[in-house]
Amino acid sequence: MILEKYSIGVGDRFGQQGAAQLRALQQAEQRGIKIVPVWNKSYREHTTIGTEPSDTRRAVDDAVKECGWRDSYYVDADHISLKTVDLFLDSSDFFTLDVADYIGKTADEKEVDSFVKSMSKFTASFPIPGVQTTTKVTEEDLYAIGCKYLLAVKEAGSVYRHIAKKKGASNFVTEVSTDEANEPQTPAQLFFILAAIAQQGIPIQTIAPKFTGRFLKGIDYVGAVEQFAAEFEEDLLVIAHAIKTFELPKNLKLSVHSGSDKFTLYPLIHRAITKHNAGLHLKTAGTTWLEELVGLALFGGEGQAIAQAIYTQAYERIDELCKPYESVIDIDRARLPDPRTVSGWSSGEYVTALRNDQSKPGYNPHFRQLLHVGYKVAAEMGSRYLAMLKKSREVVAEGVTENLFLRHIVPVFIGS
Ligand SMILES: [Zn+2]
Repeated sequence: MILEKYSIGVGDRFGQQGAAQLRALQQAEQRGIKIVPVWNKSYREHTTIGTEPSDTRRAVDDAVKECGWRDSYYVDADHISLKTVDLFLDSSDFFTLDVADYIGKTADEKEVDSFVKSMSKFTASFPIPGVQTTTKVTEEDLYAIGCKYLLAVKEAGSVYRHIAKKKGASNFVTEVSTDEANEPQTPAQLFFILAAIAQQGIPIQTIAPKFTGRFLKGIDYVGAVEQFAAEFEEDLLVIAHAIKTFELPKNLKLSVHSGSDKFTLYPLIHRAITKHNAGLHLKTAGTTWLEELVGLALFGGEGQAIAQAIYTQAYERIDELCKPYESVIDIDRARLPDPRTVSGWSSGEYVTALRNDQSKPGYNPHFRQLLHVGYKVAAEMGSRYLAMLKKSREVVAEGVTENLFLRHIVPVFIGS
């Protein structure tokens, strides 16, 4: 299974928006850009909602039929480890191996030594052309990288082999993610992480490093934009160089776990991948779920009441809902509107506060982030929520398609 040059990771928490998401990709196709969908849903999301990977598979297959989608499509076991992978084996054909927990846990000393030895030729010939953030790599640097990342990569190897044994090596796409680590990886570190991945024999097709800055859920980038741009471009060069040097799969590309809505970065990413003729996997998260809320609010009546009730409950249960997302949200509670105020809002006011449109003074990123993690409330509403989604289907679908196409696909893959 060889992942195409451009792919987009989309989430569909309640399994209702697959067709609306595919229509966004069909619009891209009409503009001459082929992007294949990868539906991602993590163990955390499945547990919160009470679904299983087979539910995702079913929803996705139905959507593909409904839209007459003829290209590839994938179901991603997002951020899995050896503990959680088995649940996904039957339904997934894309596996994001998350080994961030093993970063910094020191590997066997002999293994680190032999890694340093195998890489010591790069102390003379580094840097990679065009990579300016690192001009020299010493044996000490290599040792530090080995100590920090070797065990994590070894763990990725174990998970990969576990999947390959069950599914057959050529029947799935492998991604390795370190984006949930505590510290970003520099382009030079990325190069040696890829070296270690090659030594483990993992046929990696996408790699998700942790970039500089914060990739919070559902809101724009927080951080040094220019530094990100420089690092991102260098990462592309590093990957191209690593493919040749370590005989990694030719289609290996960057995966950006965006957390959705990194509108400031999208034009920079587009410029860099175009300039270097590089592929990209853009993973989004939760932007479709928030469009469901926008659509319900726009629908008015009972739809709007549900959107407001979800906020009220989310506000009351903020500690519980935020806990699993602590490191990827940044909510200033003082800036959250009182639920009684929100219950009095018109549907227009609700939508303005929720939609990520920074040109509107009413937009409230704290409100948006709380609702982002508030999907558990909708899940608990069960059939009341799902029935309303069906009732407002057209309004919601239009928003889902437009959001994905105009706000994500166009700036990243097509260029505005
Ligand atoms: Zn991630």
